[in-house]
Amino acid sequence: MAETGEEETASAEASGFSDLSDSELVELLDLEEAKESTVSLSKPGPSSELPGKDDKPNWCELQMVYGKELPGFLTPEKAAALDSGASIHLAKELELHDLVTVSVTTKEDAWAIKFLNILSMIPTLQSEGRIREFPVFGEVEGVFLVGVIDELHYTSKGELELAELKTRRRPVLPLSAQKKKDCFQVSLYKYIFDAMVQGKVSPASLIHHTKLCLDKPLGPSVLSHARQGGFSVKSLGDLMDLVFLSLTLSDLPAIDTLKLEYIHQETATVLGTEIVAFEEKEVKSKVQHYVAYWMGHRDPQGVDVEEAWKCRTCDYVDVCEWRRGRGALSSWLEPKAKELK
Ligand code: SF4
Repeated sequence: MAETGEEETASAEASGFSDLSDSELVELLDLEEAKESTVSLSKPGPSSELPGKDDKPNWCELQMVYGKELPGFLTPEKAAALDSGASIHLAKELELHDLVTVSVTTKEDAWAIKFLNILSMIPTLQSEGRIREFPVFGEVEGVFLVGVIDELHYTSKGELELAELKTRRRPVLPLSAQKKKDCFQVSLYKYIFDAMVQGKVSPASLIHHTKLCLDKPLGPSVLSHARQGGFSVKSLGDLMDLVFLSLTLSDLPAIDTLKLEYIHQETATVLGTEIVAFEEKEVKSKVQHYVAYWMGHRDPQGVDVEEAWKCRTCDYVDVCEWRRGRGALSSWLEPKAKELK
């Protein structure tokens, strides 16, 4: 976790069954050094992208833990579904800009790419354009969170709208429990984005949590892309100063509306959209709940009884302690679980 310096990435919540390939949820700070990142080049002018996404299916907190402790359980079918969803995201992104792969060798390089992406997207946002894959980061309830907003654009009323794409394996909308989780995700994105543009995320907080070395020389590939983007910088510190200045001086608005868009993976048909009401108190309280696990204050939880159907296709159904500990739930699941074998 960020506070302890452990190398850990995690979903802050379960993303909902079957939308396996969506943008990753906001992640607890990932201190792993990325080996390669992508920079997306907007048309016209340079734009952005960031380190790779974690497209693992997480529809249960405990499942996410099993995923880390028992890697290799992912079935080929699910891996294929992830690829399919990732392709839809990539296609959407390529509508707006090209992607360029940049070699990175340190976490400072990886953050430099993140910063370059932000710097190149701010002017588009200022001119009321559409951007995709906007990196967000900030401290919420004592934990540093990092994520990527799928898309930001302005509505016909001139409101800044966040649109989150959710791909579905089956051509049906998710149940309400899943939608709630998607709502939490976009609400959290808004909370962090607003804090960034309102100057509430400080360089000190970023450095404290990431332990980034601002003087460390950036890699040649990163420097070259910075130059191509028109940024004459030598270190991460230079870039970070630019980012924080740009975020606060660009007069970017807070996000006005939050929209979820559900798309069928196979046909790319839009299944429906959902407008999300932002409830700050609720967002904070949910964050506290999830953070309690990451801070070691509680054990991971499996799905609620009303969502027990999700266990039927979970890779860990045969080893799951949570499921075993619930007699009624287990007996309800058993016949259906067997059917799948
Ligand atoms: Fe979660 Fe159910 Fe899987 Fe257990 S079997 S990890 S409770 S989804």
